[in-house]
Amino acid sequence: MNLADSSTLASALITRGYRRVEHEQDADLIILNTCSVREKAEERVLGRLGELYQHKRRKPSVKIAVVGCMAQRLSQDLRERVPHVDMVLGTDRLFELPDVLEGNEGTQAVMTAFGHEDIDMILPVKETPYSAFLTISRGCDNYCTYCIVPYVRGKERSHSAEYLVDSVRKLVDEGVVEITLLGQNVNSYRHGDTDFPGLLQRVIRETGVKRLRFMTSHPKDLSRKLVDVLADEPRLLPHVHLPLQSGSNRILKMMGRIYTIEHYFKIVDYIREKLPYFSLTTDLIVGFPTETDEEYEMTLAAVHRIRYDSAFMFRYSVRPGTTAAKLPDDVPEDVKIARLNRLIRLQQEISYEVNQREIGQIRTSLVEGDSRRSKEYRRARTEGNKTVLFRGDHAPVGSILPIRITAADAFTLHGEIAENG
Ligand code: SAH
Ligand code: SF4
Repeated sequence: MNLADSSTLASALITRGYRRVEHEQDADLIILNTCSVREKAEERVLGRLGELYQHKRRKPSVKIAVVGCMAQRLSQDLRERVPHVDMVLGTDRLFELPDVLEGNEGTQAVMTAFGHEDIDMILPVKETPYSAFLTISRGCDNYCTYCIVPYVRGKERSHSAEYLVDSVRKLVDEGVVEITLLGQNVNSYRHGDTDFPGLLQRVIRETGVKRLRFMTSHPKDLSRKLVDVLADEPRLLPHVHLPLQSGSNRILKMMGRIYTIEHYFKIVDYIREKLPYFSLTTDLIVGFPTETDEEYEMTLAAVHRIRYDSAFMFRYSVRPGTTAAKLPDDVPEDVKIARLNRLIRLQQEISYEVNQREIGQIRTSLVEGDSRRSKEYRRARTEGNKTVLFRGDHAPVGSILPIRITAADAFTLHGEIAENG
């Protein structure tokens, strides 16, 4: 979502006559779009700002803007703590940066009040010439007890289906073939009478988009109806990112996640029953307050049973102001690290095994460019959102090709263009 916001902001500036430069030293304006989700993310921003202090001493005319979640959370405090920051614009105000720069009426250097963004005015932006992110809803009302997002991104608001269908059409006209619909909790999308499965059906029916994905799904909102739509519509790609967080019902309850592990298993079983090929990914947290060894083992057992294609795995990080921040952060750091490392090892073994099963299969994949490591290979993204490397200089970027998988490790697939599809 931050990537999507960054490119939207970049295009808002470019539309107003600004130009992107390659190197920091050539820039008259440096923007840091920030994340507050874990302490480490914020520490990195402060580190970057430290480096920029030296830069600004050498080039005092440069303007520094901090935007997004950390700007929202710290607001005026950030300007006081880091005086060489010129502008602080929160999550609802970052798109006003061009107005602030031009000194337009009603703008200030620090703007973090919610509710100033006209939700349907924000233009969707292409990530590459052939793929795009499209934010369908902003904010979150779930208040998982560990999470800062509802505080920094505000209440959940959905864009109208008309605006979204129209945006998809425009992107497709510009040559985009794959669109990822984004929201903190995309499945709870609702605008008027349109719910999320309804929105997907409209986008599919009323636009020519070739590949459609969405992210992120909350287990409480991923309905059977949605799985049925996924199963019926080949242009909807067979991948869901479904954060589990923990395998223990007591911890899930303390996290405010609302579902139980049994409910989660039921969704996964239903997906697998309806869709023979399906890629499932997740987020997991270890070391939530009071998590015992047994409860941690339940997370390992769930990961064993579900067999995710891949996972993002985190150590619990206290976020000031959240409900969980009132609990003692009582799992020692070395225990958190050991739990995380063991979980990562387990998931890597599973990713390896799951990817081995792809060998021999044909996956329609979107060509993204050259491999990052070697010019000998082209890089494409499979239906299941995995990177596949293959030989084929003639494969144009943005084309969709059938690729037969020939080898795999835990992170990457290798393949060749399948002769007859
Ligand atoms: N809206 C999405 C993403 C939220 S943030 C969702 O609900 O899944 C992305 C991930 O960061 C979360 O899924 C969670 O695993 C992790 N996360 C959020 N807050 C955290 C915290 N305080 N400590 C550690 N991990 C956290
Ligand atoms: Fe955070 Fe929970 Fe909302 Fe995701 S659903 S953004 S984890 S509060």
